[in-house]
Amino acid sequence: MKIVLLGPPGSGKGTQAAVLAKDLGYAHISTGEILREEIRKNSPLGLQAQEFVKSGKLVPDGVVISIVKERTKKEDCKNGFILDGFPRTIPQAEALEKEGITIDKAVSLEVTEEECVRRLGDRKSCPQCGAVYNPVTRPPKNEGICDQCSSALIQREDDKAQTIRERFRVYSQKTAPLLDFYKKSKRLFSLDGHLNPEKVLTNLKNLV
Ligand code: ADP
Ligand code: ZN
Repeated sequence: MKIVLLGPPGSGKGTQAAVLAKDLGYAHISTGEILREEIRKNSPLGLQAQEFVKSGKLVPDGVVISIVKERTKKEDCKNGFILDGFPRTIPQAEALEKEGITIDKAVSLEVTEEECVRRLGDRKSCPQCGAVYNPVTRPPKNEGICDQCSSALIQREDDKAQTIRERFRVYSQKTAPLLDFYKKSKRLFSLDGHLNPEKVLTNLKNLV
């Protein structure tokens, strides 16, 4: 099964996609994570993406489309995969179809902007492995330290207040139209993303 998780920044896509993929034996494909990893490595792709990501703007479609095209060819995608943060524009969604990659279900995590802004402002991320923490719902075992790799946690550059606003602007302009795109082809399912993470996961599993 090929699943897309949709929802505004901070709606919990990354958290849910990681667990769901692991439980189902699917690949978790997060374009945000792939881009941040390239930026950490200072690769040509990373250098190209850096300014867009830092300022909350979208990396050009052509760049992310070729990332996903390559990624979905890997062995770990053969049972299925969960796309998190892609597609983010109508042309990205169309590119998937054109490649013959047919999405079975698009699941929208519905969370108000107010709640998302609060979560993003609170969240801490690991600059090394990308793990994400929240002081209320997912505190690290030792404050400020990553459970997985012991690196010092940071606030992501694009989780600063001003950039959060820009990401929401981009979301409503470019990404929200995807809800309609998948609705028209009867592949859209919606979930209440305000519930606690365990409950959201249960509902997700019932759906896919
Ligand atoms: P969030 O969903 O919390 O906003 P992500 O980790 O998915 O965060 O993405 C972080 C940033 O990476 C985006 O703001 C954007 O700059 C870039 N990015 C990720 N996925 C895409 C995509 N599909 N198209 C364009 N840019 C992307
Ligand atoms: Zn870590």
